[in-house]
Amino acid sequence: MNSWRMRSSAAPVLIAVLIFAGALGAGAFGCAQSESENGARKAGAKIRVTATVGMVGDLARNVGGEHVEVTTLMGPGVDPHLYKASEGDIARLSGADIVFYNGLLLEGKMVDVLVKVARRGKPTVPVSETIDESRLREPPEFQGHYDPHIWFDVSLWAETIPAVVTALSELDPAHAKTYEANGAAYAQTLAALHEEVRAAIATIPKEARVLVTAHDAFGYFGVAYDIEVIGLQGVSTLAEYGLRDVQRIVDLISARSVRAVFVESSVPRRSIEAVVAGCTAKGHDVKIGGQLFSDAMGEAGTPEGTYLGMVRHNVKTIVESLR
Ligand SMILES: [Zn+2]
Repeated sequence: MNSWRMRSSAAPVLIAVLIFAGALGAGAFGCAQSESENGARKAGAKIRVTATVGMVGDLARNVGGEHVEVTTLMGPGVDPHLYKASEGDIARLSGADIVFYNGLLLEGKMVDVLVKVARRGKPTVPVSETIDESRLREPPEFQGHYDPHIWFDVSLWAETIPAVVTALSELDPAHAKTYEANGAAYAQTLAALHEEVRAAIATIPKEARVLVTAHDAFGYFGVAYDIEVIGLQGVSTLAEYGLRDVQRIVDLISARSVRAVFVESSVPRRSIEAVVAGCTAKGHDVKIGGQLFSDAMGEAGTPEGTYLGMVRHNVKTIVESLR
């Protein structure tokens, strides 16, 4: 197994979580409520959560409810594969009581920063750590790493809930029962959403179930909901693509009579526009079926600014264009 998987580095992180939780527990037996490393959280104060991507922040909000205050580092349209932590982000990580991130190298350029934060004793939790490894995809082109886009299979994303429940409960044992209840309720919501997505995608005729996108984010989606997935770029947007890749996709689209391709909110449109132009030159008409939220959610305050809304938007867009 490759030692550079974020998953393997979850071990020291977990130890850090445990040491920290232990310190908190010991403090609780003393006179005063323990405070975080930065000494700011008072008894009854909300837990300050810093999350990397929107989907992880949303997860923490659903489990933590009124007891957490969530700050998300990457906003709408931001590509997590390329994202580097700013000075402000480092302050938001240091100032948090707990940090949640996706892991599996999604936040590939933030690894060093996250490791540093964890080493300072702050609970730093990859939410993917509770997923059964046998359910993770290992795309050959991702050089021995797992596919990090776990939120595309709603049933797989539900497996991250226990990571958040456990971490928040260790940090704040007084509300452990609430976190557990919130987690259980959210798991039910996600189970219903999973069925909803499955039923919706099944309404697309089998031969039209081909999803062409800018990068290979939808692998888990394809497996879970029985739709073939073709991406111009690889699993990470770090991979370059060239004319040959565009030509390969154009040939596939023509051969399969694909009617629509999709742009992603966190990837520049030009890659998919090159595919459309290539198809037109070949005499095959293909339209842009709409924008999907792949690696970032929509604007806060809109339905797509939540995980549930993001999934529903994607499914509606795909179904309406391909059916
Ligand atoms: Zn991606």
